[in-house]
Amino acid sequence: MAAKLTDAQATRQAQRLASVRPELRQAYASALLRWLQNPALARLGRPIVTEGYRSAAEQDALYAQGRTKPGRIVTYKQGGASKHNRQPAEALDVAFMLSNGQVSWSAELLRRFAQLMKQANPAIRWGGDWPQFRDRPHFEL
Ligand SMILES: [Zn+2]
Repeated sequence: MAAKLTDAQATRQAQRLASVRPELRQAYASALLRWLQNPALARLGRPIVTEGYRSAAEQDALYAQGRTKPGRIVTYKQGGASKHNRQPAEALDVAFMLSNGQVSWSAELLRRFAQLMKQANPAIRWGGDWPQFRDRPHFEL
């Protein structure tokens, strides 16, 4: 069984999903359902959306990370340039909640989830397929 979300977590998931384009939301809903209905996958963890819409200011703060602020580089897009910055957003980021409550960005879990996302909507591009800066949690239209 996949970890259950608390009411507060479920509300945040709904808010993040509401901030993205309907095609993306529908594909995620379909992939999530197929994941949770597959006991072998559900046992590994529960997919969660960690980000949908992100403001230009939030994007600039992320861009600073690894450049003018400590940390590793997590984006090559400045404020306004990311599909997360559109309204509604044309990108969402995914992670997994494990049965112990921890959040995982396992490359293997993300690869498996990406297959379901692409099956749900072939127009969706997965950041893990990008040749230079692989962004495995990232899905966009
Ligand atoms: Zn992203």
